Amino acid sequence: MFSEEIEKLSWEEITRSIYAKTEADVRRALNKEHCTVDDFMALISPAAAPYLEEMAVLSKRYTEERFGRTMSLFIPLYLTNSCANSCVYCGFHISNPMPRTILTFEEMENEYKAIKALGPFENILLVTGENPAKAGVPYLAKALDLAKKYFANLKIEVMPLQTEEYRELTRHGLNGVICFQETYHKERYNLYHPRGMKSKFDWRVNAPDRMGEAYVHSIGMGVLIGLEDWRTDVTFLAHHLRYLQRKYWRTKYSVNFPRMRPAENGGFQPNVIMNDKELAQLTFAMRIFDHDVDISYSTRETPFIRDHMAPLGVTTMSAESKTEPGGYYTYPQALEQFTVSDERTAIEVSQRLKELGLEPVWKDWDSSFDIIAETPK
Ligand code: SF4
Repeated sequence: MFSEEIEKLSWEEITRSIYAKTEADVRRALNKEHCTVDDFMALISPAAAPYLEEMAVLSKRYTEERFGRTMSLFIPLYLTNSCANSCVYCGFHISNPMPRTILTFEEMENEYKAIKALGPFENILLVTGENPAKAGVPYLAKALDLAKKYFANLKIEVMPLQTEEYRELTRHGLNGVICFQETYHKERYNLYHPRGMKSKFDWRVNAPDRMGEAYVHSIGMGVLIGLEDWRTDVTFLAHHLRYLQRKYWRTKYSVNFPRMRPAENGGFQPNVIMNDKELAQLTFAMRIFDHDVDISYSTRETPFIRDHMAPLGVTTMSAESKTEPGGYYTYPQALEQFTVSDERTAIEVSQRLKELGLEPVWKDWDSSFDIIAETPK
């Protein structure tokens, strides 16, 4: 399990090493076809800032070689905002006195239909807070059963589950799971996640292992940019990715670097700000480090940065997202988990991608492929 691997890594040493990287280290990394985590550290270091253009060219090349000129589009649907956790940066935390919603199955189906009216989406991400008593595995299984009628590729972003529970959901059509670690800084993790199951660092950091054991087709990882030094956090993420790829080699991986934005609870301000140039640097570095990983940008990002980065390394984007439960049809005015920056419609996003010379892909997976994927080689 990765909780054992992480014990071999020192946050302080990694931080020191990143900030000690030189331009020679950066040039060495740029000349390699296959980069190590140490090379990745050079590429995200301040020493790489003068090499952004060179990195962009490489990142574009690797992306086109592996993915063509395409952009996979997906849409999130928040099923609940009921949560037993108290992440200090999130508007859905348990102490926030706000109306809580758990969509009924009828409401869910109305949302699915409303989404299909927005665009030909086939990739959907079902999102919940952590309330296993009221929105646990049976609820998710039914949500997937209903979603199957409308969408080809079903992902969830919910509380970490047991291996057997992931396995059970794959039998209901689940193809992918997203679970961000938020931060890999184990000592400071509980400052941000003081109670509930999310306060258990090891339980969360081992969730991708359990997904791998359950043969989930796609695993999504990420850190929340704004908590700790982002360079160190994404280096831990790179170690985690490599570890998982070695162990669960049949699985597909995606990464995301959500930058923190204001939440309804007001108080929490990011400790660290990542500017657009740094986000671009990280995106290029990740692509140079891993030619195959899906790099995803959400509507937290502005149209400006999404459009600029679309041809240069990003391979998946959400579009027309509502971040409140039932936001497409049932409760269009409810409280959002976070504010979106790109408010364009899905069709507008798709049109813009075409203008940029990219082909929007609404469907990049079909559940019938799972039968092939599960067939022993
Ligand atoms: S980030 Fe997720 S787990 Fe944390 S309070 Fe918000 S909804 Fe709950």
